[in-house]
Amino acid sequence: MRWTQTLIPTLKETPAEAEIASHKLLLRAGLVRKLSGGLYTFLPLGVRALRKIERIVREEMNRAGALEVLMPALQPPEIWQKSGRYETASDVLLKARDRAKKEWVLGPTHEEVITTLVAGEINSYRQMPKNFYQIQTKFRDEIRPRFGLMRAKEFIMKDAYSFDATDELAQVSYQKMYDAYARIFQRCGLKAIPVEADTGIIGGKFSHEFMVPAETGENEVVYCEGCNYAANIEKAMSQGPAVKTHKLAPPADEPHHPAKFPTPGVVTIEALTKAPHNVPAERQIKTLVYLVDSKLVLLLLRGDDQLNEAKLISALGTGNLRPATAEEIFAAMGANPGSLGAVHVTKIPIYADSLLCDATGMTTGANEDGFHFRNVSINRDIPVNHWVDLRSVRLGEACGNCGKPLKVQRAIEVGHVFKLGTKYSEKLEAFFLDESGKQRPAVMGCYGIGVTRTLQAVIEQSHDKDGVVWPLSVAPYTVCITPLSVTPGGPVMTLAEKIYGELEARGVDVILDDRDERPGVKFKDSELVGFPIRVGIGEKSLAKGEVELKLRGGALTPVKAEEIVAKVTEIIGRAE
Ligand code: ATP
Ligand code: MG
Repeated sequence: MRWTQTLIPTLKETPAEAEIASHKLLLRAGLVRKLSGGLYTFLPLGVRALRKIERIVREEMNRAGALEVLMPALQPPEIWQKSGRYETASDVLLKARDRAKKEWVLGPTHEEVITTLVAGEINSYRQMPKNFYQIQTKFRDEIRPRFGLMRAKEFIMKDAYSFDATDELAQVSYQKMYDAYARIFQRCGLKAIPVEADTGIIGGKFSHEFMVPAETGENEVVYCEGCNYAANIEKAMSQGPAVKTHKLAPPADEPHHPAKFPTPGVVTIEALTKAPHNVPAERQIKTLVYLVDSKLVLLLLRGDDQLNEAKLISALGTGNLRPATAEEIFAAMGANPGSLGAVHVTKIPIYADSLLCDATGMTTGANEDGFHFRNVSINRDIPVNHWVDLRSVRLGEACGNCGKPLKVQRAIEVGHVFKLGTKYSEKLEAFFLDESGKQRPAVMGCYGIGVTRTLQAVIEQSHDKDGVVWPLSVAPYTVCITPLSVTPGGPVMTLAEKIYGELEARGVDVILDDRDERPGVKFKDSELVGFPIRVGIGEKSLAKGEVELKLRGGALTPVKAEEIVAKVTEIIGRAE
């Protein structure tokens, strides 16, 4: 390709809309342009990088035995009603109406469609295992589309769905995808770590996310350097904090019942830790009121812990929940937030974090504004209905496996593998006859890669002050030839054309910067776009029979003009 014939609108200034490095570079290097919030047009260079990632994904999916299909993006709402997700996923569903005013769903994912297909086409264990994948546009009504392609309203996903006759075979399919994902991200030049993940409202038993460590990532990963434990913070477990409430002996003169005491104006955990009360946060019980499927529940945590909503969703089995409003709380409890507690409360179900189990000598609100109870023994005084894991793990807590202190790091989720079980096959009737002629639901797995997010994650992980530093495997062009004079028929341009032709003939992705621009502009642009290999041709070096080879991020090396094609192909071959 010749630079003047394509469209590479590089920008000197950073557009105000971009907050993170990769988003800035996507725009500055002329890869994408914004149409509207969360909607982007891919320009020629952006499409080239995208197609290279897609090709890697396809090769690895095919290698793992998955079959490519292509499903409609527009889906009938009836299948979403059947699976139950018309309600549970309603916050992300974008909908459209046709001329007959019939409603359609713009697919955010395709479990419903593929399971409907399999229900009609597969009816015997002999037809399994099967794994179907597609690379296709998805739509999600994200609350906050941001960071360019990272969280978009419309994006490209590779989604795959496996169907097996038994749970053990489904585990084999899961492992194949897990291994394929590791290869895909490695081939894209990305460092992506598999971490244990929460299964959320998609439901299911088992799941891993592939995370790219990055300060700008929207996820937090908890990991241990002592063993291989790594989990999304939404799922992470630990041995708990160093101070274990239930190990602290109750005071000798502890009465056999909670004692009410006045706490005028104290409405936070923090305030109660101060004089004159001086109750450490770990000796307090935090009481939260949530509305779950339109019913109130009480959630109890240790005062120094934070509620993890993902764990709450897992524990309750529904995503239909929110914190109760101050009015709802007062109507139910007779007190305002800040003075709430669960002592002797029986009319509202109580979910308590497991860390509070056996806790004694605790302080909590008295359900009367301006009063708290001290000397609370949870087993004696609070009728807990469910003990669950509700707390977020904190930095430095001991790893549940090996006891070493846990670390926390921000990361970008690029892929997700799920063992789904039979949730969708039962609801959408994907049954088959097993060896003994018995009808069973197929055991499913689902596997997603955000292809467009992966593209941006590559840039987020691989850039410097001058621009993108593309890995060879996904660079829009591998080689940029930069003649410093573009006079047609002149020695510089003649050699540039010759090298260009020879590299193209060898199948190398090469771009010839034939713009009549100052050398500084051309060099800056080639660094900004980030081509892995640059061949500079100027009159001075050519007088010595040389051209200048520069690897992105490396130093200039003079190479004999007649050896440059062999040298470049050798570098590319070495990397493959
Ligand atoms: P997130 O937690 O980031 O919202 P998710 O868990 O909802 O993502 P999945 O349903 O697992 O996402 O989708 C599979 C993959 O699709 C994700 O791993 C991610 O790479 C990508 N993805 C999801 N939502 C978006 C989005 N709004 N924009 C771009 N890529 C996305
Ligand atoms: Mg996910």
